[in-house]
Amino acid sequence: MAYVISDDCIMCGACADGCPAGCISEGDGKYVIDADACLDCGACAGACPVGAPSQA
Ligand code: SF4
Ligand code: SF4
Repeated sequence: MAYVISDDCIMCGACADGCPAGCISEGDGKYVIDADACLDCGACAGACPVGAPSQA
């Protein structure tokens, strides 16, 4: 399991700054999570102002 970021992402970068695995990077139009590295911790969901990350 891993978290995924929806198209609601406004590219603020807060999730990437708080990810303990460093597995969130800037993608094309939204930030993206490397599912293989995601620890499923939920920190990104807590940090996001628009609720874009969710559990896949
Ligand atoms: Fe990073 Fe945790 Fe979000 Fe996975 S769930 S992308 S490890 S902050
Ligand atoms: Fe996108 Fe939310 Fe991450 Fe900001 S915190 S870059 S809006 S997913």
